[in-house]
Amino acid sequence: MLHHVRQRPPPTDYPADEWNVIEKRFHPEFLAQLETMMALGNGYIGMRGCPEEGGPNAENSTLINGFYETRPIIYGEEAYGFARTGQTICNVTDSKIIKLFVDDEPFWLPGAHPLSYDRRLDMKSGTLDRDILWETPAGKQVSIRSRRLISFPNRHVAAISYCVTLLNADAFIVISSEMLVNEPSARLDSDDPRLAKPFSGRVLHPRTSYSKDHRIVLCHATERSKLVLACATETALETTCPHTCKAVYTDDFGQVAFTIEARSGVPIELTKYIVYHTAPTALAEELCGRAEWTMDRITSQGFQKLLAAQEQYMNDFWRRSDVRVKDLLPERTNRTTVEIQQAIRFNLFHILQAAARAEDAGVPARGLTGKAYEGHFFWDTEIYLLPFLIYTSPQIARNLLIFRYKMLSQARARARELGHRGAMFPWRTISGDEASAYYAAGTAQYHINADIMYALRKYVRATGDEQFLRDYGAEMLVETARLWLDLGFYSDTKGGKFCINGVTGPDEYNTVVNNNAYTNLMARENLRYASNTVEALRKQEPDAYDALVRKTALEPTEVEAWRNAAENMYVPYDENLKIILEDDGFLDKEVWDFKNTPLDHYPLLLFYHPLDIYRKRVIKQADVILALFLLGDAFPMEAKKRNFEFYDPLTTGDSSLSSCVEAIIAAQIGDVDKTLRYGLAALLMDLADVGGNVRDGSHIASMGGTWMMLVYGFAGMQDDDGTLFFRPRRAPQDNATLRFAVTYHDKLLEVEIGVEKIEYTLREGEDLVIRHEMEEVSLTREHPVAVRPISRT
Ligand code: BGC
Repeated sequence: MLHHVRQRPPPTDYPADEWNVIEKRFHPEFLAQLETMMALGNGYIGMRGCPEEGGPNAENSTLINGFYETRPIIYGEEAYGFARTGQTICNVTDSKIIKLFVDDEPFWLPGAHPLSYDRRLDMKSGTLDRDILWETPAGKQVSIRSRRLISFPNRHVAAISYCVTLLNADAFIVISSEMLVNEPSARLDSDDPRLAKPFSGRVLHPRTSYSKDHRIVLCHATERSKLVLACATETALETTCPHTCKAVYTDDFGQVAFTIEARSGVPIELTKYIVYHTAPTALAEELCGRAEWTMDRITSQGFQKLLAAQEQYMNDFWRRSDVRVKDLLPERTNRTTVEIQQAIRFNLFHILQAAARAEDAGVPARGLTGKAYEGHFFWDTEIYLLPFLIYTSPQIARNLLIFRYKMLSQARARARELGHRGAMFPWRTISGDEASAYYAAGTAQYHINADIMYALRKYVRATGDEQFLRDYGAEMLVETARLWLDLGFYSDTKGGKFCINGVTGPDEYNTVVNNNAYTNLMARENLRYASNTVEALRKQEPDAYDALVRKTALEPTEVEAWRNAAENMYVPYDENLKIILEDDGFLDKEVWDFKNTPLDHYPLLLFYHPLDIYRKRVIKQADVILALFLLGDAFPMEAKKRNFEFYDPLTTGDSSLSSCVEAIIAAQIGDVDKTLRYGLAALLMDLADVGGNVRDGSHIASMGGTWMMLVYGFAGMQDDDGTLFFRPRRAPQDNATLRFAVTYHDKLLEVEIGVEKIEYTLREGEDLVIRHEMEEVSLTREHPVAVRPISRT
């Protein structure tokens, strides 16, 4: 089901392009959406796509991943074990401001009416570029060109090149390069529970500030989370026009202003270098020192070198990660190849921007493009993002899994607090502590533990990184298996089967239920993987096994108990309908009155009391359907079809995590209409603002889901049993092709699916064996193997 029809920007002002997101006219009504779409980030630093002039802004956030302030969570009624401390990502120093004054007239977009305007997110170069021709009220024409980047290779660095040229007259101009801290938020407090509540008052407290020539360093710290932030800028000017310069700073403000006698035709080139360093413990002086080292290095290299390194990084990324399409049903999708291609690249690029240099952090649900969901990390990372990263940038995937490992001691403590054995990962968090204030749709989502282990298994199988499994994975497996065994029980009323009660599955419209099928199925995988891993270590690597026993006080009998629970796991099933039940009580509920629900009352969570929703048969997002995809091997096609047909009409898609999964199952069962409908919704979730809330940040999970849709859905990739296996769907029409690459055990495999043939080419690595349908295919480097597609409906 899909309900939303949104206002779209006029295509002439936002022309489609394969490598760029382009804005040809400044539209104040789309300011907020464009801030998200044109945001830059590298997984550590994120800046919304606000103009250099410091405004106008809908929400001018500059964010550092994992840099947050805490606040007490106040409950009207307390209960034992509720999360006590909220964590919210906070704005850091806005360092990108460059103001321009021509004969004292400020350049300010809303009133400027530029003669020409072109802004583009260049996904090939990894930059945000703007080219404006402005005529001042006095008739002086000014060319203003800027290029902004947040460096991928240099994690702490951003830079802006800003070039002004007067075209038809001389003028006095001032270019003021500024930094601003604690700017009040333009957004008002809202009732939408998905948005972060603003802090009242100052969040960043000054520690030290100073300037040296054209360099300014401002250092601040948060009060309660005690995180320290140093931000440094250095601004350089190159021009033959006479000029002077003045630098000033206060605790919360820095300014390097150049006054220039600009001559017609003579370019004035300003470069602003920006550095951020953050730390949980460092002294202000020490952190400023680190910022200065970085600044010394990058200013000596110059902007062109930063740009070249960025382009090289992007080249490498696209070589491993690009998905190319041609002629995918243009008349049925109403979208040209260029539009589809743009959307695919946009999604992949934003994932990179959210995750590349996250390192000691996770990936926030909205990346670093906005503060919605408070900058928290959810299961979105493991289930929706990691598949793409594992198969294209395994190092990033590894970092994200290590980050989970680092929160294991907090997860153990949380399990104790809730009376469990083992470890219980937080539903939402930045610091590693549970930050979910609504347990029914938060802490109760125990499935996150199995989701993390599912991603671990995918990572180990796709990379062959057994060392990771020994050093980190096995310990997490032991602790999560313990949790499941502790949580569930053998129920007499269910024929002695292992049941798990009182949990919430992915579908947040049915909370605290018994035997959520998704949870039970994923827990079963978790228990199996844990017992297999521990057994293999015991037999084959006694030293690693001994180390694991020491770290976890593992008893020999535990493994048998996990296996038993897995093999006796209860999965609710209805014999009449022949479907897996979302949970024990799902069929007892009255069906939601969809007919009388106005279209503008979605998402339901904003218009109906939770009790109203919870007592009805209505689904927020793919739940059983998600299990059918993730554990695809375990279900025959007939079962997928029956379940999809039953659950699809009940699924509102109120979460952006839904459409991509529905598209995959629709593709698998051959429902072309729904594949396209859901597929397009997922693909264009952000670029066409399908959910109507792109202003609050990009939907990173859905973006990851679009890769899964293309690679698992259309190309029929399967990896459940540890080998790489393709059962592609035939391309839908003549000339249609889908081309992508996956990295498997350090080898780069390129797959091209066309109407007449499917071609596998090993681009890197000596040899690789994969399976196509039931056949084994042996590949050697640069010797493509072509096979004929099997026709499926
Ligand atoms: C979804 C969750 C998701 C969260 C963050 C919620 O609306 O229901 O599954 O983890 O958003 O993206």
